[in-house]
Amino acid sequence: MSNDRQNLSEFGLITRFFSDISPPLTAQTSSVELGVGDDCALLNIAAGQQLALSIDTLVAGRHFPIDADSADIAHRALAVSISDLAAMGATPLAFTLAISLPEADFNWLRGFSHGLKEAAGRYRIPLIGGDTTRGPLAITLQVHGTVPAGNSLQRSGAGVGDSIYASGYLGDAAAALAVLNTSCEVGAEEQQYFLTRFYQPAARLSLGQRLLGIASAAIDISDGLLADLGHIVTASKVGATVYSRRLPISPVMTASVESRQALMYALTGGDDYELCFTVPPSKVAMVNTIAEQLNIPLTHIGEITEGDKITCLDHNNKAIDLNSAGYQHFR
Ligand code: ADP
Ligand code: MG
Repeated sequence: MSNDRQNLSEFGLITRFFSDISPPLTAQTSSVELGVGDDCALLNIAAGQQLALSIDTLVAGRHFPIDADSADIAHRALAVSISDLAAMGATPLAFTLAISLPEADFNWLRGFSHGLKEAAGRYRIPLIGGDTTRGPLAITLQVHGTVPAGNSLQRSGAGVGDSIYASGYLGDAAAALAVLNTSCEVGAEEQQYFLTRFYQPAARLSLGQRLLGIASAAIDISDGLLADLGHIVTASKVGATVYSRRLPISPVMTASVESRQALMYALTGGDDYELCFTVPPSKVAMVNTIAEQLNIPLTHIGEITEGDKITCLDHNNKAIDLNSAGYQHFR
């Protein structure tokens, strides 16, 4: 940090809140030769591995509510970044954090540090460095992971005839945002469920790693199923058909949200951080085994086709007009 060093008492702040965000040492975390405190961190990368890097910025009021609990913000920020590693089939190595703070609010920082430590433990990834500066509240996380060289999951590998899958349930985070802006009213328990799904998305790390050598393409669903499957379709130069009746909708959503609304959340709502992936016919039999072993619902939601468009079929196998106002609304 270059200015306001005294006011923010940067070094005390870093030592107190950011020097101990590390899960117990494992084979992965022991790749850290040097963490917080020097000019650079140093990592050892095993032979035959490629480094997978991803960076995301979350701005208060834009990517999370400005008055959100700081532990929740931290947990979500790390989960969202880890989800990119999951989508490539990578294993976490370490992360860095650049944080811009309007003031050194110790209660806020204590919560943030606590949430970050909890998420770092959950995903077994240590914090190895960063930058701290004064400014409007914004959080940038860069995650570093490793993948077996030449063997990562990418968006570009889907082939005609491959089956399309989604993990977990879709649309819950969109329902949470609707609850937060009071456009969707549900009971207290349902509200808690949706908000937890938004603030603590389960990045699908073990799933991504198990899909190496099985999935032909993968992406994490951050902007909505249609938008993110759209990235696979474009990168792979193929089309897709999605069966709306097969979309995995959570029991809470089914019970508390009108079905057409739930379908819209599942198709176009972002922030779920589930994986969407494609599997060639010779390997689809393995998907059910993975679902059972990991205890994660993996739902066959459609097929990769020729062409360059996504067609979504309704319950009567009629194409849904995705350009209609209702579906645009959430993009
Ligand atoms: P420099 O002037 O060399 O950039 P800084 O004063 O920014 O160093 O940071 C000092 C040390 O603290 C570095 O090791 C840096 O990686 C670490 N650091 C700074 N801010 C954070 C943060 N928010 N989280 C983790 N580590 C941090
Ligand atoms: Mg610095």
